[in-house]
Amino acid sequence: MIKTKLDINSNDNSLFVTAQCNNRCLMCSQPPLKRNDVEILFEKNLLVLDSAPIELKDIGITGGEPTLLGEKLFDLIELIKCKLPETQIHILSNGRAFANRDYTKELARVGGDKLLLGVPLHSDYSYDHDQITQVGKSYVETMKGLYNLAEFGIKIELRIVITKINFNRLYTLSNFIYKNLPFVSYISFMGLEDTGYAIKNHEIVWVNPGEYQIQLEKAVINLSIWGMDVSVFNLPHCCLPLSLHEFARKSISDWKVKYLSGCEKCKMKNDCCGLFSTSKKELEITPKF
Ligand code: SF4
Repeated sequence: MIKTKLDINSNDNSLFVTAQCNNRCLMCSQPPLKRNDVEILFEKNLLVLDSAPIELKDIGITGGEPTLLGEKLFDLIELIKCKLPETQIHILSNGRAFANRDYTKELARVGGDKLLLGVPLHSDYSYDHDQITQVGKSYVETMKGLYNLAEFGIKIELRIVITKINFNRLYTLSNFIYKNLPFVSYISFMGLEDTGYAIKNHEIVWVNPGEYQIQLEKAVINLSIWGMDVSVFNLPHCCLPLSLHEFARKSISDWKVKYLSGCEKCKMKNDCCGLFSTSKKELEITPKF
């Protein structure tokens, strides 16, 4: 969604910088468009930035793929830092552009410790990752990108969207992360939003959360035991085992969250992320608390 105003009371203050992307992820909630929109959105985002309250804790940069802005992404970061010097800048990127060491070095110079890069890693197994992105060698580029980001001290949030393709390897992936990517600051396991390409590819990507709770629990607890900062996004408390409640976050953006009638009396409602109002396939929940 393109925001026209940033709001201190919202949990989603993001600048949408392009609808273009160089991946074609099977479950993409915001299917990419081939159109030259960088300049026009840049101008719009300058106006949006003007509305930003100085106390804003986080601002997102999202798309599409923000690194398709090339050097213009650095201009945007500089403008944000000038306007909001204390605000953390959370960029969602597929990470492939950071395989270019010079580009990553410049990003670090411009953004410094204000940056947090949210990068999806779909699997430890390159074939599965590339199957999901539908781009050969995207795994290799994203992995190189993660190492370059680490080399230049940029904070990383690894994002793992759980699908039918990757859920069986969540525990294997958790060991892979601990052994090969121990420098990441956060790891977020994310329930799938059934919208965009996820609807078109429903048979390939959709899995009911009940089918992967054992794998998710093993992966999350494993990473937590290793001392890593791990979270579960987009899965309501009543879909999770009790052991995962402490890791579950209120992650669904306020403009697309919904609670069902059964939620009204639920004791967990204040902590629970609720459901996506944007999902075609509604989760089958059984209120228990
Ligand atoms: S019943 Fe509703 S509020 Fe309670 S845990 Fe489930 S989804 Fe969340």
